[in-house]
Amino acid sequence: NTFAEIDLGDALNENIRRCKYVKPTPVQRHAIPISLGGRDLMACAQTGSGKTAAFCFPIISGIMKGQYAQRPRGARTVYPLALILSPTRELSCQIHDEAKKFSYQTGVRVVVAYGGAPINQQLRELERGVDILVATPGRLVDLLERARVSLQMVKYLALDEADRMLDMGFEPQIRKIVEQMDMPPRGMRQTMLFSATFPKEIQRLASDFLSNYIFLAV
Ligand code: AMP
Repeated sequence: NTFAEIDLGDALNENIRRCKYVKPTPVQRHAIPISLGGRDLMACAQTGSGKTAAFCFPIISGIMKGQYAQRPRGARTVYPLALILSPTRELSCQIHDEAKKFSYQTGVRVVVAYGGAPINQQLRELERGVDILVATPGRLVDLLERARVSLQMVKYLALDEADRMLDMGFEPQIRKIVEQMDMPPRGMRQTMLFSATFPKEIQRLASDFLSNYIFLAV
C-alpha cells in the first residue's frame, strides 16, 4: 500500500521517496502492477488522479531494468524506447517535468517536442539522445517526416487524454504514428491508453491499438 513496497528499481524508488509520494493514488495502485506485469491497459482517469505517474513509473522502471544496449544511432535519426503522446504543449511540458523529476540518476533521458514553437531547439535536444519522447501528435509527424525520429524501437506507448486528442482532430496523426510502430520488424510494444471518457471512438482506438488489454475505471 506504499510505493516502498513496489520494486520499481532503486533509483526510481529513491526519487519517489525524495518527491514525498508515499501512497499510490487509486489509478496508480491498479495501473502500475498491470503495466509492470506487461499487460496493455485502457484506463479511464481524470486530471488530478495521478495518471501521469501511473504511466511514467512503469516506463522509467522498464527502461532502467531493460537491456537495450544494441539500439541503432543514425547520425540524425534517434530511436526512443518510449513514446508518450499528449494533446497540448502545456500538458506535454507537465508530463516532461514529471518524467524528468523521476528519471533523476536513473540514466533514462526524457525529451519533449511540441508544435507552435521553433523546431531547432527540440532537434538539438533530440540529438543528445532520447529514451522517453513526450510529444504532441502534429510535431511528432513532422519529426518522422524529416526522419529525425524513428519509432522502430518503441517498447512503451502511452496516449494521455486520448478523448481530448480526438476532439482536437488528431486521429489521422495518431494513426499514422502508431502505424510506424507496427511496421516490421515490430518489437513487442506495450500500450497504455488514458482517457477521461470512454465513447465509441475511444473504444475503437482501444481495440485497434491494444492487445488483450485490461480495462480500468477509477
Ligand atoms: P496528475 O493527475 O498526474 O496530473 O497528478 C496530479 C497531482 O498529484 C500532481 O501534482 C502530482 O505531482 C500529484 N501526485 C500524483 N501522485 C501522487 C502521489 N502518489 N502522492 C502525492 N502526490 C501525487
